[in-house]
Amino acid sequence: MAKRSKNVDEPVCSWCGRPGDLSQMRYLVPDGDQQNFICTECIEMIHGMLADEAPTRSKKAADDFRKKMTGKVPAPHDIKSFLDKYVIGQDQAKKFLSVAVYNHYKRLMQTKRNADDDVDIEKSNILIVGPTGTGKTLLARTIARLLDVPFTIVDATVLTQAGYVGEDIESLLTRLLQAADYDLEKAQRGIVFIDEIDKIARKGDNPSITRDVSGEGVQQGLLKLLEGSVVNVPPQGGRKHPEQKMIPVDTRDILFICGGAFEGIETKIAQRMNSHVVGFETDTERKRLTDKQDYLRYVAPQDLRSYGLIPEIIGRLPILTHLEPLNREALLRVLTEPRNAITRQYEKLFGMDGVKLTFAPEVLEFVVDKAIEYKLGARGLRSIVEAIMVDAMFDIPSQHVDSFEVTLDYAKAKFEAAHFEAASVAS
Ligand code: ADP
Repeated sequence: MAKRSKNVDEPVCSWCGRPGDLSQMRYLVPDGDQQNFICTECIEMIHGMLADEAPTRSKKAADDFRKKMTGKVPAPHDIKSFLDKYVIGQDQAKKFLSVAVYNHYKRLMQTKRNADDDVDIEKSNILIVGPTGTGKTLLARTIARLLDVPFTIVDATVLTQAGYVGEDIESLLTRLLQAADYDLEKAQRGIVFIDEIDKIARKGDNPSITRDVSGEGVQQGLLKLLEGSVVNVPPQGGRKHPEQKMIPVDTRDILFICGGAFEGIETKIAQRMNSHVVGFETDTERKRLTDKQDYLRYVAPQDLRSYGLIPEIIGRLPILTHLEPLNREALLRVLTEPRNAITRQYEKLFGMDGVKLTFAPEVLEFVVDKAIEYKLGARGLRSIVEAIMVDAMFDIPSQHVDSFEVTLDYAKAKFEAAHFEAASVAS
């Protein structure tokens, strides 16, 4: 369909979205039906891409990529071991992610994707369902770090259908381009993490009754990206620079990882399982399902559908996995074990001033108890430690000491004095 500018009768270039401009020597060339147009600048750009270096360049980039990755993409076991260094627990999700990422990169390394190669490995976009602060973003970020590919996080709630207040869906590719320093080839092999995908679920059960611009429209828009197509992306993003030249980005090899808390989905899972008794493997299993959160491990595509994701989106996110809520023991481990655990970060900060910092074990328990009390989960741990440590970080550099121990009394006193506001850190 031909695109039109704000002035509805004015034709615009279907590639870059701009109208013709005689002063810039930019003319619009119509197709046979006079329905679609392409401007002379885009013709030149495409000609440049096709005519000379581009095919060899993109072939070279693909070859380079394969060379770089051959023997380098770690096996699923290695990917999981790497994740273990940064993420506590979540074994099932780690396993699923490791396999999905491994297959994704095998797919990218296919030497040819043409007619006589009739087995085309499909893209394995991933959906992670799990309560907030349990490691969804951390998992995606850690994978990107392992693979050394451009990575960006986008919040689905700020995306809107074109024409509405908020960010256009293409803006998520702008961010990926920026993360790749505008290296198109690199960006086209990157990873996009779309957070809070549950927030764009269709609100009403019947789509025809409610005209749901915020939810379903965005899902439709995302679909185009998830399934793989060439999307014209404004390199500066937003609508502030209407004159910018669009960059066509092919999303076929971009891995999309979506995450969402899907609050309340347990009820839908429970309803489904209770109406289809086959969902339970044994009676013992039925008994074990006393806690509502236990249902999450049985999440299936049809539950996402009842939650309000459109079937096409669900189909484009074939790897579905879940995260477990973090219990007290897991929170304690989060504080100290991962490579960049919070306590390690503070130890490093103090170490840079020549001060050996130690936390008494009871302090860690205190921090975890507060995180649980304020219902902040792992997300709150850092803010609580920060509230305790801010005075020490202010004073110690001027005190010329070579060690500092955070005791329980010190932690309690500082925490109380900080008038910790749970609301200010909850997200
Ligand atoms: P979400 O699931 O909401 O995306 P995040 O991955 O952003 O949660 O986690 C928030 C913070 O909590 C992270 O920066 C990390 O420090 C900590 N965290 C959460 N879950 C874990 C986990 N399983 N292992 C280690 N740290 C975690």
